Amino acid sequence: MLTAEIVAVGSELLTPFRTDTNSLWLTDRLNSAGVEVKLKTIVGDDDARLEETIRDALKRSGVVILTGGLGPTEDDITRKIAARALGRRLLLDESVLEDIKAKFLRWGRKMPEINARQAMVMEGAEVLPNPNGSAPGMYLEHEGRVVVLLPGPPREMKPMFDERVFARLVGRAGGLRVARRVMRVAGLGESAVDERIAPVYTQYKNPQTTILFNSSEIEIHLTAQGKSEAEAELLLDGLAGQIEERLGDSIFAFRGEKMEEVVGLRLAVAGFTLATAESCTGGLVAHRLTEVPGSSSYFMEGVVTYSNESKTRLLGVPAGLIESRGAVSAEVAEAMAEGVKRRAETDFGLAVTGVAGPGGGTDEKPVGLVYVALSDDAHTEHKRLMLPGDRHLIRWRASQFALDLLRRRLI
Ligand code: AMP
Ligand code: MG
Repeated sequence: MLTAEIVAVGSELLTPFRTDTNSLWLTDRLNSAGVEVKLKTIVGDDDARLEETIRDALKRSGVVILTGGLGPTEDDITRKIAARALGRRLLLDESVLEDIKAKFLRWGRKMPEINARQAMVMEGAEVLPNPNGSAPGMYLEHEGRVVVLLPGPPREMKPMFDERVFARLVGRAGGLRVARRVMRVAGLGESAVDERIAPVYTQYKNPQTTILFNSSEIEIHLTAQGKSEAEAELLLDGLAGQIEERLGDSIFAFRGEKMEEVVGLRLAVAGFTLATAESCTGGLVAHRLTEVPGSSSYFMEGVVTYSNESKTRLLGVPAGLIESRGAVSAEVAEAMAEGVKRRAETDFGLAVTGVAGPGGGTDEKPVGLVYVALSDDAHTEHKRLMLPGDRHLIRWRASQFALDLLRRRLI
């Protein structure tokens, strides 16, 4: 397979304040062109280190993509250093210069003298026009390798790559295409997932399987190569099907969907309505549900009842029940779910109560103890959870389990 590496140039990308997002986007595009990304580098605006990086890249990768450092200022060194590393001269391209001057005229300004630098083109390179900025890119073939120089600003880099580079790489990649799929799992631990599906996925080199743990979700990433996108997708279908056989309902997403999207879609399709009552999650369940566009068709209301008194006043949870069982109890969780369902007149009421910590835990009710409850016309059920993690994670995981309880009821 054709291999690529990406070199992001810019000292700002080595600070905590700017992230190299270009290489993420480029990796996705290169993969779908059938090119495998083997390495990414971030180099500051440093002549010697950039030259060394480019020389090394040319030794090992079929495609070398540089982004950034094509601006007009002294610290924009990519053009100069790439030319040095490749042993090519930089020549003034009159038509590029005219083009840049014309752009500045259109912007109502005279071209500053320093921008003339952006008209310097490496010998043998093809100029990639930049309709969204002043710096043009370059494409060249050098000793059997492809070298591409792209501007740093994403809104200039992306269209240039798609319009001027993508198709050529597809041609060079020999038609191999890469397809990816992300499946998400709820309610099973990482080792439980691996135990069940390792016997299946270890039999395949293609698709490749990676299992990632992320907050309270296990993600299964599948990557397939095929002679066409359809062939790669077919390989993914095959393995995804076998994984589904082993994990069943624990898989909530087959194409990277979020839990709240999956739950929302099921509610919308069935025409059901929902109200939520939350204590320790402070509205997180409602927040996640309402992040999904169109959620107003099924999500009616969410109440945050943090104090005991508010559980009684807003949800009608009997004060005596809170007194005798405690605010964090199965009985109160169920009473919250029933109360919010009754008052909002919805098909479902979903409730969360728990101890998010770090304080407030007791031997009997430790930090991480959470009850989620779900009520519909027929019955009310609850789940008792002991969630690991800090306050933030406990709250997030509680919201996930609450949504998952509803998802499973909707299956
Ligand atoms: P430059 O082409 O080096 O003048 O970069 C211009 C601007 O593009 C920078 O200030 C960043 O905002 C942005 N930029 C450069 N490189 C990247 C990158 N790898 N990822 C995201 N943004 C970038
Ligand atoms: Mg820069």
